[in-house]
Amino acid sequence: FDDASQASPEQERRAAYLRDLLTRYNREYYELDEPSVPDAEYDRLFRELQQLEQDYPELWHPDSPTQKVGGQALDAFTQVEHETPMLSLDNAFSEEEFNAFVKKITERLDSANDIAFCCEPKLDGAAVSLLYEKGVLVRAATRGDGQTGEDITANVRTIRNVPLQLVEDFPVRLEVRGEVFMPTHAFEQYNQKAAAAGEKTFANPRNAAAGSLRQLDSRITARRPLHFYAYSMGVVSEDSELAPTHFERLQQLQRWGLPISEEITVVEKATGCYTYYQDILQRRENLRYEIDGIVLKVNSIALQNDLGFVSRAPRWAIAWKFPAQEELTIIRGVDFQV
Ligand code: NAD
Repeated sequence: FDDASQASPEQERRAAYLRDLLTRYNREYYELDEPSVPDAEYDRLFRELQQLEQDYPELWHPDSPTQKVGGQALDAFTQVEHETPMLSLDNAFSEEEFNAFVKKITERLDSANDIAFCCEPKLDGAAVSLLYEKGVLVRAATRGDGQTGEDITANVRTIRNVPLQLVEDFPVRLEVRGEVFMPTHAFEQYNQKAAAAGEKTFANPRNAAAGSLRQLDSRITARRPLHFYAYSMGVVSEDSELAPTHFERLQQLQRWGLPISEEITVVEKATGCYTYYQDILQRRENLRYEIDGIVLKVNSIALQNDLGFVSRAPRWAIAWKFPAQEELTIIRGVDFQV
């Protein structure tokens, strides 16, 4: 028995406080599309809670926001059970943290060889699942809490670059996962018009996308300038031969008619990921959409399967976040986003 490993009452109180606070922030962000703090602030508090739980396992709680994905599906929508969970991603906020990720997977895979990574922009929108049967879009759903999402089929049908019908040799049943987002220029225009008309404006393109997707009247969604990029496959029927790497699977999706980001590429080892990070960071302002980092995925599907998942994220991918653009300044007890 080692007293030093026991959490102090103060730490216990802090963990409970953080659990409650982050649960409230999750609700505001995922369910109401109205965050009250910048993401960087949320990420800091999340990290603090994660660290407390790691240092003092007795503070671990199954209901902790560190164990959960997203928020609850709203009752106003028909609920959709995901056949395989839609997870979140682990984050790295620095080169050291990215290196620690590479070290961990290299050890786990017992791999002396360099690992190839698929590098992608981290689109800042809302995750959706699209189900195609015999090539026809039959259902679209939000991620929700990862297990249960909301049926938003009518809304997604209004997004111009989402194909309603696939082309070529598509599988009989195909689930596509990707991000719905509002391109920066369109977001600015939308907010200007909304402000002029005295209507509600959105805090950022992410909230604009998430809020627009979860409209009960799809005519409203149809007027919002939304865009979609696919970034992975969900369940796929066995009639189709799938490529052995993630990147090639994205190309398969593209052949079947699904749009993917033009910024996706494969690099041979971790050093290639640094170059990609620097390159995209430099061009961040010139991209047509907002991104909050890059996503690095082990390219081999066999290695992805070896690595598997933890509770809320795959072990074979990491979101390497860019430095925050918005910060929280507290002036006389009032929160301002600058
Ligand atoms: P995340 O946004 O950190 O990463 C997972 C998501 O990234 C996926 O679900 C997918 O939607 C998206 N994504 C974008 N590009 C992708 C790609 N190329 N490949 C795969 N996925 C891609 O995780 P999250 O669980 O959606 O959100 C957590 C983050 O949301 C936090 O780190 C925080 O920044 C923010 N958040 C903020 C508040 C707040 O109050 N401000 C509250 C909750 C969450």
